[in-house]
Amino acid sequence: MDVVFVGAGPANLAAALWLRKKVAEHDEFIEKGMKQGRKIGDLNIAIVEKGSFVGAHILSGAVMDPIAIRELMPDFINEGCPVDTVVTDDAFWYLTENGGFNAPLVPPPLKNKGKYIVSLSRVCEWLGEKCEAAGINIFPEFPAAEVLYDENDAVIGVRTGDKGIDKEGHKKPNFEPGVDLLAKVTVLGEGSRGSLAKQVISRLGLDEGKEPMVYSLGVKELWEVPAENFAEGRVVHTLGFPSDTRTYGGGWIYGLKNNMISIGYVTGLDYEDPMIDPHAEFQKFKTNPKVAEVLRGGKMIKYGAKTINAGGYWTQPKLFADGVLLVGDSASMLNGQRIKGIHTAMKSGMLAAETIVGAFEHEDFTSHTLRHYEEKINLSWIYDELHPVRNFHGAFQKGRWSALINTGLQFLTRGLAWGFMPKEHHVAGHERIKTVDSGQWTVDSNGNGFGPSDHLRTERYKTVPFDKEITFDKVTDVFYGAVAHDEDQPSHLHVLDTEICATRCAEEYGNPCQRFCPAAVYEMEERNGRKELKVNFSNCVHCKTCDIADPYQIINWVTPEGGGGPNYKGM
Ligand code: SF4
Repeated sequence: MDVVFVGAGPANLAAALWLRKKVAEHDEFIEKGMKQGRKIGDLNIAIVEKGSFVGAHILSGAVMDPIAIRELMPDFINEGCPVDTVVTDDAFWYLTENGGFNAPLVPPPLKNKGKYIVSLSRVCEWLGEKCEAAGINIFPEFPAAEVLYDENDAVIGVRTGDKGIDKEGHKKPNFEPGVDLLAKVTVLGEGSRGSLAKQVISRLGLDEGKEPMVYSLGVKELWEVPAENFAEGRVVHTLGFPSDTRTYGGGWIYGLKNNMISIGYVTGLDYEDPMIDPHAEFQKFKTNPKVAEVLRGGKMIKYGAKTINAGGYWTQPKLFADGVLLVGDSASMLNGQRIKGIHTAMKSGMLAAETIVGAFEHEDFTSHTLRHYEEKINLSWIYDELHPVRNFHGAFQKGRWSALINTGLQFLTRGLAWGFMPKEHHVAGHERIKTVDSGQWTVDSNGNGFGPSDHLRTERYKTVPFDKEITFDKVTDVFYGAVAHDEDQPSHLHVLDTEICATRCAEEYGNPCQRFCPAAVYEMEERNGRKELKVNFSNCVHCKTCDIADPYQIINWVTPEGGGGPNYKGM
């Protein structure tokens, strides 16, 4: 291949299409004598995707800012882009335990009137069709498992995972070895905490001198509700309940066509309380009377969970190395303040594509040429959007109130004035989580946590009924995520030292994997006279939380056999 894109998300799909278009333009200009240089010709372009189809593993809220898709395809609506609804009404609710109120003003970054509510899974499916029509090879069910390097550590492609290995590691009759896809340029657009991006960043030191990436986990359900409960085109964002003031969190409700709503809750994975369970936070959010009123008489249709890369500008790694570029959420392109990353992901992909055109023009695929990608990002509207809000998420690590003051200050001064900033702008979540014996948190015999503030002194989730009407337990929700993995394969969740789980982690953190995983994958089970870790890997929704939030960093998420995982069609 000439170019291999890893992951069929919005960044890479936009990149591949833009690359086709820009190469054709370049060659036409040369042919007509309007530009000097050499023609590039038809490039062999491949996109490898671990899901069973394009869009299977794509999950987002999602309100899309059309700025990037309009650049990619000015006539995107007439071209059939499956937007669901145009936003007609914005609201911002501050929630308390027993109710809440409509804020008189919607914070400007959360104004969405005129933008599009979409199923990002559907949009990606559609972009995938456009790519195929443009002669781009898409390989679903092909998880890229490993990065290939030459003797100078330049990236030269990827190796896809083997198929047909049983849980003991033996070959089954349907065994097919992975293939090496060699490419002049490899583009990693695997989304938040990409497993190959993690390898490349670490091996090539792309995070040297950068702040650590910080993440949030979004847990979402799709509901059908009575028409009078919530208007199509209405967008609500919430702050307050159930998050405590030390924990970053907020909810959303978006009104879709056909009486459907997208409802979800984001919890920062840089929380301090080891008893936090982001899935339970979402369930608790739905018990708030204002929220429950929206759901009354309705029916949950689908479930999903996914992390987002929330740190933005400060936490972006170096975006290039010899033979490789990082795009989208893998490169921390999301605007945390607007909770939007589809447009920045697409634009980053398009700028990567323009850089690749230059690389082929000069037949140079080293950093010497690929560094222009980072320059293009910094000269584009991505920089103009992300730089002024560079301290947004970091400020929340000092608590909600100082963060809100910060946000106001930066908004008034376009990012020049900040108060209350921690010395380090962002601290990795696994370093912020407190131990239960730190004198601040204790756990009772039922595993309930008691924290230092009044809010946390009560059992955090005691009031969540899990009634299967409004609130659902994890196992029920996973069923609605249509998750499937062949159980006769090695676990793709590599826990490097399970002895730590049974001993230190149990004592120090009360085994938080049981809580932070939104799919009930991790369980501590009575065995050999003590509690030992059991990993129900087939439940995994590929959100990557465990890889991020484990305080000992001993969980390594690797790609399972191709096609396994959730099915987020229409989410
Ligand atoms: Fe997410 Fe890890 Fe649980 Fe899978 S096992 S659902 S990646 S937290």
